[in-house]
Amino acid sequence: MSDKRLVYMDNQATTRVDPRVVEAMLPWFSEKYGNAASRNHAFGWEAEKAVEAARRTLAEGIGAGPRELIFTSGSTEANNLAILGAARMYRERGRHLVTCATEHKAVLDPMLALQARGWEVTVLGVDADGMIDLDELRAALRDDTVLVSIMHGNNEVGTIHPVAEIGAICHERGVLYHCDATQTVGKEDLDVERDGIDLLSFSAHKIYGPKGVGALYVRRRRPRVRLEPIVYGGGHERGFRSGTLNVPGIVGFARALELCLEDRAGEQARIAALRDRLQERLLGELDYVHLNGHPERRLACNLNLSFEFVEGESLLMGLDGVAVSSGSACTSASLEPSHVLRAMGRGDDLAHSSIRFSLGRFNTEEEVDYVAERTIAAVRRLREMSPLYEMALEGIDLNKVEWNRH
Ligand SMILES: *Cc1c(COP(=O)(O)O)cnc(C)c1O
Repeated sequence: MSDKRLVYMDNQATTRVDPRVVEAMLPWFSEKYGNAASRNHAFGWEAEKAVEAARRTLAEGIGAGPRELIFTSGSTEANNLAILGAARMYRERGRHLVTCATEHKAVLDPMLALQARGWEVTVLGVDADGMIDLDELRAALRDDTVLVSIMHGNNEVGTIHPVAEIGAICHERGVLYHCDATQTVGKEDLDVERDGIDLLSFSAHKIYGPKGVGALYVRRRRPRVRLEPIVYGGGHERGFRSGTLNVPGIVGFARALELCLEDRAGEQARIAALRDRLQERLLGELDYVHLNGHPERRLACNLNLSFEFVEGESLLMGLDGVAVSSGSACTSASLEPSHVLRAMGRGDDLAHSSIRFSLGRFNTEEEVDYVAERTIAAVRRLREMSPLYEMALEGIDLNKVEWNRH
């Protein structure tokens, strides 16, 4: 075991459950364990009452009405229900869908599944900052387009898409707009009415709530959105999603959003200041470091950097005890670089050398300084072993070197 201290800076993967959320959830495991669908006794009634109170809090938090919220097991399921559910429901209207190359796999994979079953999918590209082009979106919409799915804040590079503009473009053409807002609900300014969003996914565990619970907003007016269910049995959630409700999870989800919204601007400013401090130190003390993501329009918590001449996985090992993510996900036997960085035109080298630091409510300035020092030391140590870095320092343009190939 290493005696190095542990620091958690992977808050875009998941967050610690806030102790106040745990406290709100506890009675719903032990004393108040009723099934919210039990209509015959007080155990059921009080569970249903708690679920409906949570539904109101959560709906209000995104500018929706309580009857527009469907509880799910998280954003993965919410995204699947939105995309598969709308595509199947409106298959007679058209079979064309639009999404974006930097979406989470929980959007891209259901899109691919539909493509394999006869739907046509247009995948919009992004610029070097990870931003879509609204004119490209306009041009992609056709008479048979039924749904656009474009996220709000990106989970890898933090770029924030202009959701209100996207919503307006979709509504002009009578196309439904689904937004994966898992990274922004409770953090960024968001309102489904004002922003013209018809379907919106979010999840408790990204906002200091428990894992395994999320929600899909489904618009009921102008237009009324209908979905074919993907889970059948019992007709819970007005038939959109059957299955016994996760009462403690739902109670915790609502408490978590409430806490985020109590001081949303203040908390985001504090997290952004920590992120900026980390960024300034790393960019100030190391050379050949590149910022991934939009320099201004980005999430307060996100810092995604590529450290040239350093392999991300080696850097992760050098940072043991510090929990961060790298841009190369270890899938099966191959090291596959991030599809997000690739879509932004980053070469495989820079994608492989990327690290995502994501800050949150429980990080401190002291932790930021510690992580900065550890990262600077680890990068320097790895570069000492890199002949490429040495050549770059000598002013040799590596792109012009004629490598001796065998
Ligand atoms: C975490 C995340 C998901 C998946 O959410 P789960 O609740 O873990 O299923 C989907 N989209 C984005 C943008 C995310 O960050």
